[in-house]
Amino acid sequence: MSARRIGILGGTFDPIHSGHIDAGHAAALAIGLNRLIVIPSHIPPHRPQPLASPYHRFAMAALAVGGNAGWRASDLELRIEAASYTSATLAKFHERGCSPAELFFILGADAFADIASWRDYPDILDQAHFAVVSRPRFPVSDLPTLLPQLKTRMSIPPLDEFAQMEPLILLIDVQTANVSSTAIRQYCADGSSLAGLVPPTVQQHIEQHGLYQPMGQGRRDSDAQAKAAAGRLHGQD
Ligand code: ATP
Ligand code: MG
Repeated sequence: MSARRIGILGGTFDPIHSGHIDAGHAAALAIGLNRLIVIPSHIPPHRPQPLASPYHRFAMAALAVGGNAGWRASDLELRIEAASYTSATLAKFHERGCSPAELFFILGADAFADIASWRDYPDILDQAHFAVVSRPRFPVSDLPTLLPQLKTRMSIPPLDEFAQMEPLILLIDVQTANVSSTAIRQYCADGSSLAGLVPPTVQQHIEQHGLYQPMGQGRRDSDAQAKAAAGRLHGQD
């Protein structure tokens, strides 16, 4: 029987974009994942708070996994009204019967470079394999130098049987889309097209709901429309 290999892709996803999807596919291919779970964080502890609501961020994650067999979006962190910590999320998977050797937490090399600042470091490295994917300007090949204390745990897939191993740091060197959520929020504010930067369903969601418009432009417009409509009702048009 083949081993259970569950990928967990965590992030703020404000919004989810093609770089995230590429990283998920790269990890799935390199590791042979049976399942990939995308988990938007509720309240990210180490960064400015997201612009889009948790509802919109979950909706976009759910749209983005569509068409990828075995992929899911999870509201596990969004249901908790507190800062989202990966160690707590991984502990929930353990409570549900997953062993650390079956779990692969997927993240970009930029995020992993900060791992020493994460809650429960270094114990968190025993809670799951860490599948680290190169990101434009952040190749995984830099990590042994950046994190010399973790060098002995780093390994390059493919490996034979993860299930029998202690959790590793897997370095996956692929080219992912050169895009960030920060850039996408800026493109929206500038009125530039998102074509090719996010899945088409996510692009449609962002446009349809006026997300990331400058100074709540979408809301101001709809407020103005509502006022005009109310005026019409009262014969003031
Ligand atoms: P922001 O600009 O708001 O920080 P982001 O694009 O970095 O957004 P996050 O939600 O912060 O996206 O990232 C979630 C995870 O996805 C992180 O582990 C990050 O390193 C990884 N990631 C994001 N973009 C890419 C990319 N283009 N290639 C590989 N990994 C990526
Ligand atoms: Mg980021």
